[in-house]
Amino acid sequence: MVRPGIGPGIGNGNGNDQTRSVADTRNDRNRVFADAADEQLLQFAESHPRLFVLTGAGCSTASGLGDYRDRQGQWKRRQPISGQVFISDEAARRRYWARSSVGWPSFSKAEPNAAHHALAAMQLAGRLALLVTQNVDRLHQKAGHRNVVDLHGALDSVSCVDCRHSLSRDTFQALLLEANPWLHSLTAAHAPDGDADLELEDLACMQVPVCSLCAGLLKPDVVFFGENVCRKKLQHAMQALAMADALLVAGSSLMVYSGFRFCREAQKLGRPIVIINDGLTRADSLASLKVSGECGRRLSTLAANLRD
Ligand SMILES: [Zn+2]
Repeated sequence: MVRPGIGPGIGNGNGNDQTRSVADTRNDRNRVFADAADEQLLQFAESHPRLFVLTGAGCSTASGLGDYRDRQGQWKRRQPISGQVFISDEAARRRYWARSSVGWPSFSKAEPNAAHHALAAMQLAGRLALLVTQNVDRLHQKAGHRNVVDLHGALDSVSCVDCRHSLSRDTFQALLLEANPWLHSLTAAHAPDGDADLELEDLACMQVPVCSLCAGLLKPDVVFFGENVCRKKLQHAMQALAMADALLVAGSSLMVYSGFRFCREAQKLGRPIVIINDGLTRADSLASLKVSGECGRRLSTLAANLRD
């Protein structure tokens, strides 16, 4: 049994460092575990029936959306644009929208994977207190998950920073391409925030659409790097965490404070933390159980066994 403070500690999740010996495939009361970590996850979930779940980019990689950080928690590519730079620097804003126009079509067509479906099934089975995601892709909702807290907003809409007039990202995309037909010809690999790895030297000719009501600046409805998370959302999430039995983190390195704060709060409340993530996280030392491996595989095994 895994309990706060007396769990197996930080394991590599591959079963190599476990004191219990398990076969590669174990069938116990019709439950199938690939390794000891699967079994420990199930024990954790069974002894903490109402889980508060926090998901990050690692949950969406199997849907074809890259993640930001490597196994050591370092940036894999340039740091995302900050809110302050987006508002104040016109050239940076043009560069952002040029890249975003390339990444958006495939980003918006991404489909939920096994991780999203497993969490939606766990919600349906009444196992979740709340799901909070750091992702801006809406894949949890596409998988049928209800009442998701999009901590960092979502990329599928754009708003005026002055009058709050809002339009869909698809509508904005059409306006952007209409004003800049040359963008059609650009191709590049897309990044997790719908941005794209693309170097553009001269964007002086680029026309960025403005608000149709007040000619104000349009900004994606996401929390950019360096911006604050919506206070109301945070309050709602913290209340749910206080009512939950434990915190489950899936696919996040927790390097950004907006996610890490839930681990700090869980610790303060005496709620144990379980982490599923490939590579280091900022909360490894706070976790009762740390499991590596692909989120979709871990979570779908958990959801299937919980249904028994
Ligand atoms: Zn406006």
